[in-house]
Amino acid sequence: MGDSATTRKKSQADKSRTSRDRSASKRTAPKRAEAGRRRAHYPWEGLPDEELLDMRLCDLALTIDGTALGSRVERLYEELARRGFRFRPHVWLAEDWFSPDGVPGIAIPFFLAHPRLMRIERKHMLGVEGGNEDECMRILRHEAGHTIDTAYRLHRRRRWRETFGSFAEPYPETYQPKPFSKSYVLHLDLWYAQSHPAEDFAETFAVWLKPRSRWRTGYAGWPALKKLEYVDELMADIVDRTPTVRSRRHVESIRSVRKTLREYYEEKCERYGTHLPDVYDRELLRLFSDKPEDAKRPSAAAFLRRLRPEVRRTVARWTGQYRYMIDQVLEEVIARCKELDLRLAASEEETLQDALVMLTVQTMNFLHGGHHRLAL
Ligand SMILES: [Zn+2]
Repeated sequence: MGDSATTRKKSQADKSRTSRDRSASKRTAPKRAEAGRRRAHYPWEGLPDEELLDMRLCDLALTIDGTALGSRVERLYEELARRGFRFRPHVWLAEDWFSPDGVPGIAIPFFLAHPRLMRIERKHMLGVEGGNEDECMRILRHEAGHTIDTAYRLHRRRRWRETFGSFAEPYPETYQPKPFSKSYVLHLDLWYAQSHPAEDFAETFAVWLKPRSRWRTGYAGWPALKKLEYVDELMADIVDRTPTVRSRRHVESIRSVRKTLREYYEEKCERYGTHLPDVYDRELLRLFSDKPEDAKRPSAAAFLRRLRPEVRRTVARWTGQYRYMIDQVLEEVIARCKELDLRLAASEEETLQDALVMLTVQTMNFLHGGHHRLAL
């Protein structure tokens, strides 16, 4: 893929737990005061949502230093230093999480730099990807894997290719994950490592990097352990070396994005929106009944609407995907059930189980079905 700056963007993994900012307790008093002063510098902070949405992204004048996000980046640097690396991937704010090909750095979505923007993000997308410390660290470790791969051109090595596959392989339009495969680590969201060799490496690296991850015991007996052992050897080999690729470019930096927040969310909602193809009628007819003799049975649409919050929660837990997207899938499924006048054919309990499995699979298919670019 050379050194072009094509970006690899990631599949969205949102667990949207509301989180207290754990790093806040670690901050020293002067830093807190500094953060307070810095926050006062943003004139848009107190604007009502409608006015804030008219601001252009480049005019937000956001920075990472001195924020909770900044201390998470510091934490990543400490984790790398603890493993002996002097290499520190540079970070900048952009519209999404990604690490560009040919640039060993990490783009972080701008809304993570300020709590007011995180609230706007949550309101529009029903979740904030990387909004709490645990999730943010997972994504940072994953991205750090891509940056080390880039910096040391690891994917050009023969053993890398033998272990993970070809880096040059195109990202698939869709992929069929094997949920119980033991050839891959489980890290960012279920089965993400299976999407592409570059992601497999990044996920394996993230598991390796995490302090106290105990991967040797956790993955004992799994074929995935071989990948972890290879990463362990590979890192020992390169840790003292100077990276080959040293570009410090900020690709697609927020500073040059002239769209407004409103335009940003219009685009993003469109990107994550979904349209059910007719093939799902077959799935729905397997789950529910359209037979005349069942016409008096409870309506499938009403059943799903009642259980919508529970379904959304469970599917999000299984797939790690944006609640917004799951909600979109659900909305379309409910509308289609109504059009076809489908009825419950089995017990509520049984139907719920089957509905959860179907919705999980549909969400995965939508996500990897070309609605947005794969890869972190
Ligand atoms: Zn990735």
